[in-house]
Amino acid sequence: MKRILILTMMMVATATYAQQFTEQDSLRGSITPEREWWDLNYYHLDVAVDPDKKFISGSNTIRYKVLKKNQVMQVDLQPPMTIEKVTQDGQELQVAHNGNAHFVHLKKIQKKGDFNEIKVYYSGHPKEAVRAPWDGGFSWKKDNKGKDFVATSNQGLGASVWWPNKDHMYDEVDSMLISVKAPKGLMDVSNGRLRKVDKDTNTYHWFVSNPINNYGVNINIGDYVHFGEKYNGEKGILDMDYYVLRDNLEKAKEHFKDAPKMMKAFEHWFGPYPFYEDSFKLVEVPYLGMEHQSSVTYGNQYMKGYLGRDLSGTGWGLKFDFIIIHEAGHEWFANNITYKDVADMWVHEGFTAYSENLFVDFYYGKEAAADYVIGTRASIQNDKPIIGPYNVNVEGSKDMYYKGANLLHTIRQLVNDDEKWRQILRGLNREFYHQTVTTDQIEGYISRHAKIDLSKVFDQYLRTAKIPMFEYEVDGNEVKYRYTNVIAGFNMPLKVWVDGTAHILKPTGKWKKQKLDGDLSTLEVDRNYYVDQQFLP
Ligand SMILES: [Zn+2]
Repeated sequence: MKRILILTMMMVATATYAQQFTEQDSLRGSITPEREWWDLNYYHLDVAVDPDKKFISGSNTIRYKVLKKNQVMQVDLQPPMTIEKVTQDGQELQVAHNGNAHFVHLKKIQKKGDFNEIKVYYSGHPKEAVRAPWDGGFSWKKDNKGKDFVATSNQGLGASVWWPNKDHMYDEVDSMLISVKAPKGLMDVSNGRLRKVDKDTNTYHWFVSNPINNYGVNINIGDYVHFGEKYNGEKGILDMDYYVLRDNLEKAKEHFKDAPKMMKAFEHWFGPYPFYEDSFKLVEVPYLGMEHQSSVTYGNQYMKGYLGRDLSGTGWGLKFDFIIIHEAGHEWFANNITYKDVADMWVHEGFTAYSENLFVDFYYGKEAAADYVIGTRASIQNDKPIIGPYNVNVEGSKDMYYKGANLLHTIRQLVNDDEKWRQILRGLNREFYHQTVTTDQIEGYISRHAKIDLSKVFDQYLRTAKIPMFEYEVDGNEVKYRYTNVIAGFNMPLKVWVDGTAHILKPTGKWKKQKLDGDLSTLEVDRNYYVDQQFLP
């Protein structure tokens, strides 16, 4: 998710990377020695939620595999939440606290290959979301009938804002049990499948059988009603379940018809939904929405577009519910393929912003899709590079959305074979199935399978804020052209049109000349390539 309303975005996105980072940034954002030696295997998060007191308490059992010898383990939990105690095999352990990071001193000798567990007991008044999901935490809201309507959201901020865990994206837990004690009369919906309900304590046990990233884990408590359907997908029958507020049931039954439409389009483009075992869910929440794995949260007010607005300005954006399409698109790019470091967040948002136009392509055709993605260029700022600084938990420019999408749209032109392009997108989801990745792995895969060295293209669009300028002069039947505003070695081929005929030029940073038939005063760059152009008279 992490979308910000465009106008707000323009005002806040002025920071540069020249900022100073603190020890806390490094403890949070890097793979510290106290994280590196153990591999997450299983969490059992067991938590009671008290909306009246805005208070939560419980424990997280962390099972891990010892990769190499070490006796100190880093666990993250952000104040004002507090760790009450940590145990291993029933014995209480000493914990040294350093801000958000807590260093547990293990007594039992940690032998390579062993699976061990610690249990972290904790409680507190978690940070309240200011403007969920961007400035997240707990949203303590009420529905129209005055009943509690509670949800968590914490991308960027980190899951450690409300529960203790290894709060770095590189290591995903392999499976997870989420037990949530909700107020009487209300239901909790979390990730995965509902295993059982303890009626006397009103505790809901949800089990996730696939690797899940920390920020995807969520609690949603409300007066929910359920409906669902069986979807006949690429991997068989997929359970699609919907949890909405009681009053919204009839509206949702009509509106959520976009969900199976989404599934059909995205399985076509990206391959099978990556979490059949855990089902797919849409869960209504009191904020806009977020890509929580297998429980995509929904708060778009049952409107088409983005709260009724078309982000592309072309009309195509009002053909679908933006939150259903975008957030569910993240099941492939964010939840299946997950960044190791938030600096590479374009792998989530660039591909998912791009998925919006592939949805349009599937139902309305290629030209409509091109209109849509090109329409979103109006929101690109080119304020700073898309890729952020590494190891400090800092993301890059918000341009990761639409510039990312337009980079991918441009690469589709370079590949110039839509079926091959589709197989690359599906191949990414196969090759990096349930993995955490770096942008280099994604870039390398695309170059290898496109059989085009795209390294300079990626460097230009992801690692600088400069948009290539195609400069040209016309002399009779000859065009003279070059790129400016480009990195050394940038040589992306470019399609131009003269009198309705397409030509591929191969501009570089140096002037070139080429004879072309037709009236060269009509020359224009194909709109699908994201470059600027300037005619030099
Ligand atoms: Zn998103």
